[in-house]
Amino acid sequence: MQKILFIVNPIAGKKAGKNIHQDIIRYLDTDKFKPHFKYSEYSGHISEIAEHGLKENYRAIIAVGGDGTVNETGRILIHSNIPMGIIPIGSGNGLARHLRVPLSVKGAVRLINKMDILQMDAIRINGMYSFCVAGIGFDAEVSRMFQQMKARGLFSYIIACLRCFNQSKNQNFIVRTKQKEHHLNGFMMCFANANQFGNNAYIAPGANVSDGIIDLVLVKKPYYLQIPLFAFKTFTGTLENHSLYNRINGSEFEITQENDFAHLDGEPTKVGTKFTVAIEEKALPVIC
Ligand SMILES: [Mg+2]
Repeated sequence: MQKILFIVNPIAGKKAGKNIHQDIIRYLDTDKFKPHFKYSEYSGHISEIAEHGLKENYRAIIAVGGDGTVNETGRILIHSNIPMGIIPIGSGNGLARHLRVPLSVKGAVRLINKMDILQMDAIRINGMYSFCVAGIGFDAEVSRMFQQMKARGLFSYIIACLRCFNQSKNQNFIVRTKQKEHHLNGFMMCFANANQFGNNAYIAPGANVSDGIIDLVLVKKPYYLQIPLFAFKTFTGTLENHSLYNRINGSEFEITQENDFAHLDGEPTKVGTKFTVAIEEKALPVIC
């Protein structure tokens, strides 16, 4: 019998994670696996539980929550041989959607029963990790606003976007690669491992989590009249040919920005005005 650790974030998204263990037990192949449940109680607790779990010889450790929970778990399991699973109960579920992990508990647990593993890349920024999408400019400002709001969920996220939109301006960025220095002006810059932020908002439609490449995306601020088409293209995965959209692929960038913060998988973090973004290839085993 192999042990599996489920780390549950009881406040992820809108769905209560509190009673989820009953559903997990119902669908888990308990002839093969013995589930252990741990519930996070405070900020940073998920990583502490995962770190403890690393030493306990689990077959897999499962993040039950949103992209924040996935990030806190993944940053501990990176470069280990314990795979991370996802039961997506967050508000956006960007990485789970990219990996086609079912959004139902039943479907996600069935995937865990099969235990197929993909070695996925991670994006490293100043020694911290992003597994889905990181960014600076507008979307980092949104993540800061969203964190300060009491309510979670898609509706609150849209409110945060609208509030930040008026205040945010195009800013100057410098992107250095080994070959070239780009002086760019834009509203936000994203570093995409996965193809979407979550909720099927495809910021980097062609991104692949195991190709060793960061999709660096630069977006210029749209005029109000351009927003509907821009939003339509975001949600249909067709942004690539929009006039406000630019993409540079690479494995390492040195970035200079006017702000001093970023978001990593939706969590706002200080990174300074100058920082390095690098890929770590096939660094995290995930169940998908
Ligand atoms: Mg990639």
